[in-house]
Amino acid sequence: MTAKILDGRAIGAEIKAELRADIEKYLHEQGRPPGLSIVRIGGETASGVYSKAILRIATEIGVKARLDQFPTRISADELRAILMQLNDDESVQGIIVQMPLPGHLSQKMVVDLISSRKDIDGISPRSAGNLFLGLPSFLPATVAAVMEILERIRVPLEGKRAVIISRSNIVGKPLAMMLVQKNATVTVSHSHTVDLAGFTRQADVLVAAAGHPNMITADMVRPGAIVIDVGINQLPGGGIVGDIDFTSVSEVAGAITPTPGGVGPLTNILLLKQCVQAAWQQVQDRDRLVGEISIS
Ligand code: NDP
Repeated sequence: MTAKILDGRAIGAEIKAELRADIEKYLHEQGRPPGLSIVRIGGETASGVYSKAILRIATEIGVKARLDQFPTRISADELRAILMQLNDDESVQGIIVQMPLPGHLSQKMVVDLISSRKDIDGISPRSAGNLFLGLPSFLPATVAAVMEILERIRVPLEGKRAVIISRSNIVGKPLAMMLVQKNATVTVSHSHTVDLAGFTRQADVLVAAAGHPNMITADMVRPGAIVIDVGINQLPGGGIVGDIDFTSVSEVAGAITPTPGGVGPLTNILLLKQCVQAAWQQVQDRDRLVGEISIS
């Protein structure tokens, strides 16, 4: 069997076209585009590359994104005031704070402060709690990307056996919640799992996000399975590979994401999709509030 390749770049192009149309509608109705603030503290290079990638996609699709850059020496009180101001800023519908933060700033303070209405990367405890309770919530962008792929290939997840290799807060746990909501039967594995292959071989849907190059080989995959590779691993000699051994597994799986070119290119696009969803949600909330005030 040769697997269908789930091309993240092609799926991303489709989503961007849909978003452009949705943003034009928003602009027409609201008189301004959805706004995004990327808060960046200090000059850590990796997060700089990430900010630039988000800003580029935002410009392509019409989200008004801005980089709010602050010096490393910013105090916790100053950062708190900035986040509270952004929560109230009507021109900003989504907020992302670039991690990691300098050592004197608490990540917990930041995630507690971002309004869940604007938490488009799903990092706040309230977003996680809503997800756990099955209430509407923004997802960590990688999880949103995995769910988008599964939705676009129209695989019914009901009754399917899903195995996730990760229990991390940004991938494994939220993804498990989403797959359970879709009526899949979910196994969450981690570094203490005994006989990982015994689980992965049963998976109709297998998602790997462990961060180990090529750890999943063809003998660990059920023929015909849908295999999604979240892992991004830099090889010592150069080049990037996923957690799935693409060459061998693509001979067994029914469908597979490549790395690079699978989940990775979708992550930032899904972040912006959630920003647009946040913008519409805030319009609805405002209209509901206006309605309630005019009734009373
Ligand atoms: P973490 O280190 O936080 O989580 C890795 C998870 O994999 C942990 O739950 C860990 O278990 C588990 N794990 C590690 N080794 C094994 C093993 N041998 N068998 C089973 N489970 C194992 O990493 P992240 O969640 O931050 O990232 C994971 C990977 O995903 C990385 O390659 C990262 O680059 C990539 N990534 C890709 C993104 C994208 O946009 N495509 C976005 C985010 C991450 P335990 O909890 O026991 O330690």
